[in-house]
Amino acid sequence: MPLTDKFGRAITDLRISITDRCNYKCVYCRTGNEGALYGDLPFAEYLRMARVLAGVGISKIRITGGEPLLRKGVVDFVRELATLRSSEGKPLDLAITTNGHLLAEMAKPLKDAGLSRVTVSMDAVDPGRFARITRVSNGYDRVLAGIRAARDAGLWPVKVNCVLMRGFNEDQIIPFGMFAREEGVTVRFIEFMPLEEERVWAPDTVVPLREILSRMKEYRPLVEIPHERSETARRYRFDDGVGEIGIIAPVSHPFCGHCSRIRITSDGKIRTCLFSVWDHDLHGLMKRGASDGEMVEFIEGVIQRKEERHHIGEPDFVPASRTMVHIGG
Ligand code: SAM
Repeated sequence: MPLTDKFGRAITDLRISITDRCNYKCVYCRTGNEGALYGDLPFAEYLRMARVLAGVGISKIRITGGEPLLRKGVVDFVRELATLRSSEGKPLDLAITTNGHLLAEMAKPLKDAGLSRVTVSMDAVDPGRFARITRVSNGYDRVLAGIRAARDAGLWPVKVNCVLMRGFNEDQIIPFGMFAREEGVTVRFIEFMPLEEERVWAPDTVVPLREILSRMKEYRPLVEIPHERSETARRYRFDDGVGEIGIIAPVSHPFCGHCSRIRITSDGKIRTCLFSVWDHDLHGLMKRGASDGEMVEFIEGVIQRKEERHHIGEPDFVPASRTMVHIGG
């Protein structure tokens, strides 16, 4: 049975950030600066945390960052994770979120190591626009090749995440609809959240769900697909059955009431919400020689402190104590 927080939410999904370094500088996420702020841990330490958490009900693990494919040894880490079992004795559902820059060469080895799925971030289907958003000049072709390699390797379904930010890429909505149909991938539009390093978020920088839907419907009619309560994306297919899109709308349609996630940062802290103003030092506890049982006790206490909801756009909003690249999205 998964652990349940004080609001009755079962905690089944874990995100592990394995580095807070990134080779992209996306305008909605990072500054133009290089380097990591918090650093990372040996894989064996993340693996122990994952094993203990699988024992208390985690059934899905997503590896993220920073950019996780920058980390040497990530394929072996996936292979080790694939040997773990959930508390029900089943293999874990293993996914990676990546910017795709290094994916073309790694998709097949990751699949062979036991990865189930991949999500690739891509915020424009136009090379010039892509470069303006990522602040990297040679990325577009590589990311496209990465998406295709993931699809060919059977990392299915390949999801493509597009953060929409007004003034940068809201005109990419229809081109992404075409892209989803042509490439056979699920494109998911994400509302921009105030988690960026440069603090440029304001309510009017968000392109909300209703605007995404109405723009896409100018291209083709959409039919909503029923989704699981814990799923963050509202899902739609085009009327002729070709192509799927999703919309993740944490700002205009928050889904905190169904949140099933916790995160481990690259330096081994548990975060119970993207917008937490504190974190919980699981790695410190391990370093002090805690047994697995003591780790479980700590985790149970932490989960009881999971925030009820975020307060984006409200007068009492307090920015998270870390930005997205240092949390692990
Ligand atoms: N480097 C990997 C990547 O690019 O996918 C993984 C880490 S990245 C922080 C994870 C996801 O967070 C990406 O899909 C990214 O687009 C999203 N993201 C980053 N900053 C965001 C923000 N301010 N609002 C919404 N999504 C954001």
